[in-house]
Formats: sequence, structure tokens, C-alpha cells
Amino acid sequence: MEIAPCLIDGRLYTGHGETLEVRNPATNAIVGIVPVCSAALATSAADAAVTAFSSWKRTTAAHRAQLLRSVAAGIRTARDAFATTITLECGKPMLEARGEVEYSASFFDAAASAGEMLEGSTIASRIADRRVFAVREPLGATMAITPWNFPLAMIARKTGPALAAGCTQVVKPSEETPLSASLLGKTMLECGIPAGVFNCVTGDPASIAGALLCHAGMRKLSFTGSTEVGRLLARQASDRLMRCALELGGNAPFIVFADADLARAADQLIAAKFRFMGQTCISANRVFVQRGVLPAFIALLESRMDGLLLGDPLQETTRIGPLISDAAVAKVERHVQDAIARGARLRRGGKIATLKGMSQRFFEPTLLEGGTAGMACACEETFGPILTLHEFETEEEVIESANAVAVGLAAYVMTQDADRLWRVVEQLDAGVIGANDGAPSAAEAPFGGFKESGYGKEGGRIGVEEYTRVKYVSMRVRVP
Ligand code: NAD
Repeated sequence: MEIAPCLIDGRLYTGHGETLEVRNPATNAIVGIVPVCSAALATSAADAAVTAFSSWKRTTAAHRAQLLRSVAAGIRTARDAFATTITLECGKPMLEARGEVEYSASFFDAAASAGEMLEGSTIASRIADRRVFAVREPLGATMAITPWNFPLAMIARKTGPALAAGCTQVVKPSEETPLSASLLGKTMLECGIPAGVFNCVTGDPASIAGALLCHAGMRKLSFTGSTEVGRLLARQASDRLMRCALELGGNAPFIVFADADLARAADQLIAAKFRFMGQTCISANRVFVQRGVLPAFIALLESRMDGLLLGDPLQETTRIGPLISDAAVAKVERHVQDAIARGARLRRGGKIATLKGMSQRFFEPTLLEGGTAGMACACEETFGPILTLHEFETEEEVIESANAVAVGLAAYVMTQDADRLWRVVEQLDAGVIGANDGAPSAAEAPFGGFKESGYGKEGGRIGVEEYTRVKYVSMRVRVP
């Protein structure tokens, strides 16, 4: 099997023997191998990024935008290869993998446009002969560590804005899904991104991250992954006072008021809950339904869940593929059993689905009612296809319940009352709100969480600004 290369200083690198296997979660078959880069190699990638920064920062925003748009076009041209790679390495159903490819390309387009529009400011001075300016400049060489659940998009969301702002980057993708990152490296090369501007290294997470975090030239860590690892890396980064952006785990509330368009709310919930089998950071984790409409809402959900076809994720018709690992399946099973033990009623699903020729990682889309705050599925991010319904009475009560967790990434509210909608939006303690919208992600929007879901924004104009620093210039002028 051919080694999927890393990209270091403009050269594709296949290593000196030690490799990492990448397995298809649907079948357990090996679908690729990548080199294990040493800490020393990660340091050379960081050196390359630092060297490349000195010339990349001097290119015009328009020039960088042009190159980034060609990367977007390159991704779209290789759409099928990218989508198949995503599906093979993380088990994402093909239809969604195609969506991720387009979503990824859109990050490069959006960053290109935002980079061209970056602005500083002129500030009114209190002194007659003084002029005051705030000038934006790129931060420098940066590092990015990404998760397995969006193998391409989470890189695009960091690399697009970084490069648009004039920064360079070293990316360490998840060891579970390094193949899309390798393909992106090749695309970058083909599109003329200069040597050292984008680098990708694979291998042991702790040793690569350690080498990059203690590199004197690294100016920013952008991390997407679990709160636990984010906390660890932020601690390490604090030694050098490195700027951090942390996109961490969530535990999203999804609130359905009795005055919602229930059919529409059910559609939005199916998208928010079962997209990638619930393995997204903004997946609805606690579903609150107002008393009175629960039976009608359950009927609407059940009719939609009938259409969630389980199968090989490579098939276009498949809506539910495998979970990423045996550990993920075990967590989902634990959450179901814990909920039942604490009084929840299982309406459908709740067990592993056995499919011919497939692994034991397929879990039936599950519907539970009678959810309560103490259940594991309410306290922890499930990251699986379990939909647990909690009943509530009043607006005040549901807002309190929605906010009563340590994290605050996404929250959803479904209602047709515009006053209530805005009132609730203002009180929800989450960085991303789906207001009658179950799929709120967009390349042009500033995505990011509150509380223990991290800090920093990715996407749109703010996403590019986060890769800049503000230099304040005070200038004396001779005035008559
Ligand atoms: P993870 O934290 O296990 O891994 C994320 C990355 O960190 C991977 O690249 C991994 O190799 C690396 N890593 C792991 N241990 C490390 C260590 N000791 N030192 C350095 N690097 C290390 O998370 P995951 O399982 O890949 O992803 C799932 C999590 O990511 C979920 O909690 C999910 O909510 C979160 N997520 C958040 C967002 C967001 O935008 N907020 C988006 C996607 C996923």
C-alpha cells in the first residue's frame, strides 16, 4: 500500500519506515498508511513555516486570495477523491462527505474574501499634532491540531483564515483520519502554495504537539477536539504565552416550544442529531420539548427516523454509518443503559446493528423519552445517535436547564413566536445558536463556543482577524 505523504517545506514526505495504519471504521480494513513523523521532523516543519512567513506576509492579500480560491477550486475538482477518503477514514455517509468537501472549499473562498477586506482603523486623537492608527498584521507561523469528525473541514476552517491573513501553518491531523489531510497537502502543492506556507505532519500526537508548542517561532495554537485535550494543550501553550483558539466539546440543548412548527422542528432536529450519527460537536444532546406537544412531536420524529437507512457509508443511500471506534460504541451503550436505569423509556433502537460484512460499530438510531438532568446522556457529550427527550413546562425553567452545564458550544430553539425567539436567544449561554435552524454552521460565520467549550472564533471576517495582531501607531505631525 502506498504511503500517504506528509508535506514539509514544500516536499512530500513518506518517512523512513515507521508508519501508522488508518482503518475504515465500517469494516476495520486498512485503508491507508501515513508516516510517523518524529518530534525533530515536526520541528523542521515549524522552522519551514517560520522561514516561509517572512516572504508570505509580504505578499498582497489579493495574491493570497487568488491562491486560496485556486485551492477551493482544486478541492472541488477532486471532490470525489476527497469524499471517498473522508468516508473511508471516518465512516461518514457519502452524501455527508460530499457536503463536507464543499463546506471545506467554502472556507478557502470565504477566507480569501475576508482577507481582502481586512481593515485597521484611524482613531481620533486628543492631541492636535498626534495621529493614531491601529494596523493589522499577520501573527506569524501557527500550528493547528484537528479532530477526526471533520477530517478536511476542520483543517480548512483553520488553514484558510491563517493563510488569508498572511500567516503560515503546521497542521497535525487526527491519527484516525490523516488521509484527507495528506490529500489536501498535495492539492496545496498543485495549486502553487509556496513551500513552508502549509505543512502537514502525522504521527504521535503528544510528541508532535510538544515539539510545536515549545518552538520559539510558533505564534498561535488553534485546536479543535475534546475539552480534556484542549485544557492540556492550553496549559502547555501558556508556558510561552502562545495565543490559543480552542474549539472544544459541546452538550447542545435543543428546545422545542409548543408554539413551534412541529414538523419543521422535527426536520431540524433530525439534522442536528443524526448528522454523522451524532458525532459532531454541535450535535443536539439534550432535547427539551414543552408539555402538551410531546406525543405529536414523537410521532413526527418516529416517521422521520424510519427513513434513516443504516448501511455501508460508501453507498449513496446510507444515512447512518458506523461510529468511529469500539470505545465510541461502548459509550453510547453505557448512555442508553444508564438512561433506562434512571427511568427513561426506550421507544426504538438502543442496540448495535449487525450488518453483513460490516464491523460491530453500527448503532441503531435511538429514541428515549423521560430524560432527566442526572442521566449520563444529559451530563456528557454522547457523540452518538441517541435522541433523549426531556419534558419541560415554562420558558424560565427550560433556559435554566439548557444553561446548566459546564460547556456552551451550540444551542437550538424552535418557536414561531418572534418575541420569545429573541428573548431565548439572548439568554442562551452558547456561542452558536440555531434559531429554527438545525444546521447552523457556515464558512462566513464566526463559529466558536463559550465556557468550557473554549474560546476564539473560526470563520468569516472574525476568523481571519484572529490570525492577526493589532499594532498601534502613534505619529506626530507638524501642524500649523
Ligand atoms: P481529541 O481531543 O481526542 O483529539 C483531537 C486532536 O488532539 C487529535 O488530533 C489528537 O491526535 C490530538 N491529541 C490527542 N491527545 C493529545 C495530546 N496528549 N497532545 C496533543 N495532541 C493530542 O478529540 P477527537 O476525539 O478527535 O474529537 C472529538 C471531540 O472534538 C469532541 O469533543 C467534539 O465535540 C470536539 N469537536 C469540537 C469542534 C468545535 O468546533 N468546537 C469541532 C469538532 C469536534
